[in-house]
Amino acid sequence: MDNMTFVLFGGTGDLAKRKIYPALYNLFLEGKMPKTFSIIGLGRGDMTEEQFHKGVENSIHTFSRHLSENDFKIKAFLNTIRYSQFDANTMDDYQRLLKLVKDRENELNIPENRLFYLSVSPVFFDTIALNIKQSGLGTTTGWKKLIIEKPFGHDLKSARELNSKLSNAFKEDEIYRIDHYLGKPMVRNIEALEFANPVLQALWNNKFIANVQITASETVGVEQRAGYYDQAGAIRDMFQNHMLQLLMMTAMHSPKQIGANEIREEKRKVLEALRPLNKDEVEQNVVRGQYGAGVVDNENVSGYKDEPGVAINSQTDTFIAARLWIDNPDWSGVPFYIRTGKKMREKSTRIVVEFKKSGDELYLNEDSNQLVIEINPNEAVTLHLNSKNPINGHMESMDVEYVSEQSDVPDGYELLIYDALLGDSTYFAHWNEVELAWNWVQPILDAFEENRIPLHEYEPGLNGPEAAHRLLEEDGFKWSLDK
Ligand code: NAD
Repeated sequence: MDNMTFVLFGGTGDLAKRKIYPALYNLFLEGKMPKTFSIIGLGRGDMTEEQFHKGVENSIHTFSRHLSENDFKIKAFLNTIRYSQFDANTMDDYQRLLKLVKDRENELNIPENRLFYLSVSPVFFDTIALNIKQSGLGTTTGWKKLIIEKPFGHDLKSARELNSKLSNAFKEDEIYRIDHYLGKPMVRNIEALEFANPVLQALWNNKFIANVQITASETVGVEQRAGYYDQAGAIRDMFQNHMLQLLMMTAMHSPKQIGANEIREEKRKVLEALRPLNKDEVEQNVVRGQYGAGVVDNENVSGYKDEPGVAINSQTDTFIAARLWIDNPDWSGVPFYIRTGKKMREKSTRIVVEFKKSGDELYLNEDSNQLVIEINPNEAVTLHLNSKNPINGHMESMDVEYVSEQSDVPDGYELLIYDALLGDSTYFAHWNEVELAWNWVQPILDAFEENRIPLHEYEPGLNGPEAAHRLLEEDGFKWSLDK
């Protein structure tokens, strides 16, 4: 791995504290950082290096997966970090940053390999990228990389504008767009499950699969994020990015080889084959909901509109369910159902693949076989089969289950940062995917904006609005595993 500089914009923020420093520290402990590296944390606040190091140390103590048994390691890690006060809109600050980066490169005798991680509000993405270029920070004799977080645009138009600005400063293969669902170990496992198992591979098509259900339900409400969430809703916060990534991972064809280009190419083909919805078809295929007030576990809970920071007449979706069709020879005729929402009964991210029933008349009444891929909070794969009870001869369900018992699984950010350091972009969203996803979602955004479809109020602590259940009933199915 190349020696390099890691420049962290937003180095005093929440994401940096909870995820990025612990990830870097764990990589460091496991010997997965370059031999020599420099980390530069940036933030708006005026603080000494010592104060900044204290903050990083606290974040490691609070959030790190590993803690070293002695102080020596953490001191060595902190030693690689410098802090610089920084305002994204002040050109002089970029010049100061450039000087600091170069001084450290000279001091450590490392090449001009620079990774810029934008852990800041998206309003700064274009300004920072432009100024990296104009200040000379991006003019290196080594490589440069840019990591950015979602949200990547607010709609198709803004995403295109942002991408065109970023691409003035960075080439596509230098941009690593984090979708942290692609950092989840079980999501990374989907491709292996499908393609390394001929048994499943043979069944992974419309001849055997009746429908696919992808759920990401949360029990929490909007919490402290109302300012952002009320502008975004479930469609932008979850659906356009994470949920469509899960769909792509599930439905993609086997790539010719396992590599970033090949896998991302197969994912792109899935989105290209998604049957477009026009505004008039949204109502038949999409359900939007918002949680109302209610009682959960004997406690009164507020409705979304009464949450602090939410507009009292807000029409924002806290739940969305949709039926999608992939018009290619493998998936034609198989509905994919996606739903995600807040204040639901259970915290669960899972994919349920429901197989067609046996054509054999003798067993017509048996349950469908199902493959359940649990992503979060548990990691498990279960195959539900039908079997005969040896004592009474009755049919019953037999579950073949694998539950990950690994206790020390790296956090998604750790896996993703490691990939970016290595230059492996397999599990980062390519611009093609982001653009096609916005393109598919745009008529839904328009229909929501124009209030063309109802906003169903749903009871907190349950499984979303009735309309989301009817969506499947229309096709003769029901959401599986709902408690
Ligand atoms: P935060 O508000 O906690 O931190 C923001 C950081 O930006 C701070 O370091 C602050 O000093 C810096 N900053 C603010 N104004 C600045 C300016 N004018 N110039 C330079 N720096 C400035 O935010 P966060 O929660 O850490 O989120 C950072 C990014 O990550 C956002 O894009 C957010 O959407 C995304 N994100 C966050 C989370 C999370 O769990 N916190 C999860 C997913 C994505």
